[in-house]
Amino acid sequence: EGGGAMAAAGPGRPGSAALTLLGPAPGAPSCPHGPALLFVKTSQGKEEGRRFYACSACRDRKDCNFFQWEDEKVSETRLAAREEYNRNHQPSFTHRQNVDRYKNFVLLPLSKRRFCQECQQLLLPAEWEKHSDHQFLCDITTAQLKSPSQLLYPLENKKTNAQYLFADRSCQFLLNLLTDLGFRRVLSVGTPRLHEMIQSKASQEEEFSVRSLLLDIDFRYSQFYTENEFCHYNMFNHHFFGGEAARETCRKFLYEENGEKVIMVTDPPFGGLVEALATSFKKLMAMWKDTEKEGHGNKEMPMFWIFPYFFESRILDFFPSFSMMDYQVDYDNHALYKHGKTGRRQSPVRIFTNLTPSMLVLPEEEGYRFCTVCQRYVSSGNQHCEICNSCTSKDGRRWKHCVLCKKCVKPSWFHCNNCNFCTLQKHSCEKTDVGCFVCGKTGHKRSACPSLSRT
Ligand code: SAH
Ligand code: ZN
Ligand code: ZN
Ligand code: ZN
Ligand code: ZN
Repeated sequence: EGGGAMAAAGPGRPGSAALTLLGPAPGAPSCPHGPALLFVKTSQGKEEGRRFYACSACRDRKDCNFFQWEDEKVSETRLAAREEYNRNHQPSFTHRQNVDRYKNFVLLPLSKRRFCQECQQLLLPAEWEKHSDHQFLCDITTAQLKSPSQLLYPLENKKTNAQYLFADRSCQFLLNLLTDLGFRRVLSVGTPRLHEMIQSKASQEEEFSVRSLLLDIDFRYSQFYTENEFCHYNMFNHHFFGGEAARETCRKFLYEENGEKVIMVTDPPFGGLVEALATSFKKLMAMWKDTEKEGHGNKEMPMFWIFPYFFESRILDFFPSFSMMDYQVDYDNHALYKHGKTGRRQSPVRIFTNLTPSMLVLPEEEGYRFCTVCQRYVSSGNQHCEICNSCTSKDGRRWKHCVLCKKCVKPSWFHCNNCNFCTLQKHSCEKTDVGCFVCGKTGHKRSACPSLSRT
């Protein structure tokens, strides 16, 4: 097994062997990524073997190999060594230092503004020497400083970060949608490009009064944003690296205007554990709820959770008030999930939200239409099924109703009388017990699921 939360499988299905997340545990040991998460190996739904802690953030052992048995006795010397290791594995500059560096950087004439591509760092002239063998960009303009997501190299190769940036069109759509809904503050959790679009619009247009606070594990962003604009945050364990001050920044941001007009938008790595994410998001929601003196009653903090459609049931398990929108989110640096030149490629990425579906207007010029029965916008290919009494397609293609399964299925499926359900024509009827936790297909594990691969 690979290390950490990201490699773990979901909760055991009957008959499956899997790693199950027991969650963030009080008193958990920490790695450089904050408190580790508690796991246990399960077989046939039953816990088997010793419980252990692993890194919350890293899918790849190469990124963080933290491991500790739950009942393991850790000596004082090892604890001290671990603390030192964790300290040494924090960024070389603090956020405050980076903010000061930025102030000095913008005072430099264009000819002295360099960005080291290897260290992914803005350089001050005194540091040029140290980076003399490195590739760098010169004449960094103010416009470039305002679009750090273009300047920084997307950390897509690292499974840990899985940085996939919104295509401009999708980002614009999201921003228009939430401003049309009247939101004034956006808690951007793992959405640096949305944050950046809001920031630059706010600095350019007088009447545009939306503000954003970015929460992300990618510390490179601290070079471009103040402590009120960016918090170094781990969304798998709800850890604020900046401690109580950063947590307070977030709380204050949610609290403004009595908690009104704020929405959280998040686009987590798709390989991440839904249960770990959901736990953190509930904590952010609770933070919002706590800030209101009178309380928000039964209201939830409005949220957009951007994630592939095949996670629908998992997300709804944790957030029953959520529904999935048909809008297909496109990415820039993603071969599969973006528009080809020749027309629309289907992206499997959707928006899950607790806002009323009928309020969420999707662009008709992109082929979305309003279904009056369902009271929501749907893809053009998504036909209303009279039997199911809903628009049943999940992937944008027209699905067909199977009377035997009593539900609509993918157009490429047919009903197999052996298996007694609809599946691909080409399949072996032998009953296999373990399916991939993500897509349900057999023959591979979650970590190797082709629906998650982004080549
Ligand atoms: N589409 C978004 C980016 C999504 S990619 C946009 O264009 O704005 C996933 C983002 O989550 C990246 O910014 C990545 O740095 C961040 N991320 C990855 N792991 C994280 C973690 N454990 N905690 C917080 N953010 C994380
Ligand atoms: Zn770690
Ligand atoms: Zn419908
Ligand atoms: Zn149907
Ligand atoms: Zn069927």
